[in-house]
Amino acid sequence: MGEIKLKLRVLQTTCKKCKFGFESYYLSDFTYGQRLLLSKDGKYYSYINLIEDKVYDEVEDIISIIINHSNIKLSKTELADCLRQVFYLACDTIKGIQIETARGKRRCPKCGTDEIEYCPEDHIFCEEKTFKVVSHNDWNKLSAIERFELIENGLSKALKSNGRIKI
Ligand SMILES: [Zn+2]
Repeated sequence: MGEIKLKLRVLQTTCKKCKFGFESYYLSDFTYGQRLLLSKDGKYYSYINLIEDKVYDEVEDIISIIINHSNIKLSKTELADCLRQVFYLACDTIKGIQIETARGKRRCPKCGTDEIEYCPEDHIFCEEKTFKVVSHNDWNKLSAIERFELIENGLSKALKSNGRIKI
């Protein structure tokens, strides 16, 4: 699994519920297409460059095919939302935990609540840290049909949770 060194903005963060103190990382500006993704439990970060990631394009293509063959109409924004919601299915887990690829809230890594607060802006500082780059080893082992089915199932769930009819 590849790694990357990044300069980050670091925000001191406190959990309102359990009072746990931790650092939240944000990419600096001018990082179009680059994201720091957290594991679904909020504990582990990984890095992805969506412009360079070929699997991201592949999943987008699969979703477009499924939508075009259904009677569902999605706007560009809705399609992008669906893509973010199911893309984790094509990403390897971190220490067995799935990655959150939807626009999720930051969570307390200890108790999991999203009720967290940041220290005032003057506490922001820049730091260089090493992150694992999101990989797709499990995805790459799947056949074309298996990939299609995996995304179709995920998309069906995503559309249901968005109040859309099942495909
Ligand atoms: Zn907490």
